[in-house]
Amino acid sequence: MKAVRLEAVGSIALREIRKPVPGPDDLLVRIEACGVCGTDRHLFHGEFPCRPPVTPGHEFSGIIETIGADVSGFAIGDRITGDPNIACGRCPQCHAGRVNLCRNLSAIGIHRDGGFADYVIVPQKQAFILPAGLKPTHGAFCEPLGCCLHGMDLAEITAGSSVVVLGGGVIGQLTVQLARLAGATTIILSTRQASRRALAEDLGATATIDPTAADVADAVAGPAGLMPGGADVVFECAGVRETVEQSMRLARAGGKVVIVGVTPQGMKAEFEPFDLLFRELKVLGSFLNPYTHRRAADLIASGAIEIDRLISRQVTLEEAATVIANPPAPGEVKVLVVPG
Ligand code: NAP
Ligand code: ZN
Repeated sequence: MKAVRLEAVGSIALREIRKPVPGPDDLLVRIEACGVCGTDRHLFHGEFPCRPPVTPGHEFSGIIETIGADVSGFAIGDRITGDPNIACGRCPQCHAGRVNLCRNLSAIGIHRDGGFADYVIVPQKQAFILPAGLKPTHGAFCEPLGCCLHGMDLAEITAGSSVVVLGGGVIGQLTVQLARLAGATTIILSTRQASRRALAEDLGATATIDPTAADVADAVAGPAGLMPGGADVVFECAGVRETVEQSMRLARAGGKVVIVGVTPQGMKAEFEPFDLLFRELKVLGSFLNPYTHRRAADLIASGAIEIDRLISRQVTLEEAATVIANPPAPGEVKVLVVPG
């Protein structure tokens, strides 16, 4: 079969490799679509640890072709989405229900072969059935949506809440949609690219801000701003120092800041501890997708999330290595790899 192989840091290419054989607890899944994520580019550049050679791709869905001897609840021909994040189930964090913080966490597409290939092996406990009638490309969005759902769960948004989202990539665009579904009535997105601001307004943002044209804190939380005093919840979905620092100034007293964006390791940001104390801000990290993959799959199956407009382009396996080795094109939200 064909697979995109990360052979060393900075070296990625399409190769012909042996089709994997499922173990007793595994499904062999023919990939229908796999999303390219910033993490795939970090793996290529050596900014995220992994042990090459490996096939990246952790946002995938496809059709079951073979099932292992001990598999139950799945049948050949079922469409599934894989939760790539595999917790050990045995460590203190797993025992406490914090599976995303598992000490022995491993991931399909990082530590074992993933979805930029004709086929992937998925342990049955990581697989979730999707409707037969779902568009084949939509299942690839379950993983990023599951990560956004975890952020939403931590934020505990109630009907009528005000929300700010910083960063208009796919995570920001999904978060805007989830905030709308959760009943937020004011949703402001800040991102530099005009096409992404327009997209967010179509998807549920009540206003957008160009952070290069205005002081975002003034424009949102200032006396003449869109939400004087600040928002109930701020989602940091850009992963840069500027937005991390902004996020604390955009939350109202007693409000929440949810850090979803991944900043470079070692990066520092400034905040005023007095401000945090005096305004009782709650700053929460949101990491991965603990127990949210099923809900993400159900939400996507329901059609409640706009997916098609998030897909900037579809590429073949032949083109995938080049896409991963290069920065995203301007305006791009999500690129899907669709094996031929
Ligand atoms: P992305 O496409 O890179 O989106 C982030 C966007 O933020 C950028 O494209 C950029 O868009 C915008 N941005 C940059 N500087 C900004 C600024 N100063 N003000 C406002 N917006 C700014 O990435 P993504 O796939 O949506 O992911 C977003 C972040 O979440 C990444 O850091 C990713 O690693 C992280 N992530 C976290 C989890 C988790 O479990 N916590 C899961 C998945 C992804 P413009 O050019 O339009 O400004
Ligand atoms: Zn564990």
